[in-house]
Amino acid sequence: MFKKTIFHKIISGEIKSSIIYQDKYVTAIKDINPQAPIHILIIPNEYIPNSNYINKNNRQLFGYMFYIATKIAKKVHIDQDGYRIILNCNKNAGQEIYYLHIHLLGGKNLGPLLK
Ligand code: 5GP
Repeated sequence: MFKKTIFHKIISGEIKSSIIYQDKYVTAIKDINPQAPIHILIIPNEYIPNSNYINKNNRQLFGYMFYIATKIAKKVHIDQDGYRIILNCNKNAGQEIYYLHIHLLGGKNLGPLLK
């Protein structure tokens, strides 16, 4: 149903990318088109197309992605000034890559999200 995405290739090492963190469960990379001074994507190593596919079996992984985002926020020193975590699901949110990921953004005042 979903074809192989760029994130599959980055996680497997097929494509060289700026991986800043990787463990057994998740991979974090710098966004290629950053929308803030810090813009990092946290991606599960296991393929999940988007948040519509979170279920009883993989829900812990979802929490773990957020946990790692907060760890990275501390590591890159945006935890005190603040940051935003974004998840896009399907077309109305503008999901571009059909491989679940969360965006960690910071390093400047991000302004209001909703207008
Ligand atoms: P989405 O809109 O799906 O939530 O966000 C996808 C994100 O992936 C975008 O912010 C886009 O800039 C980023 N992106 C797309 N292709 C690549 C790539 O090849 N490498 C990296 N590091 N980021 C990418």
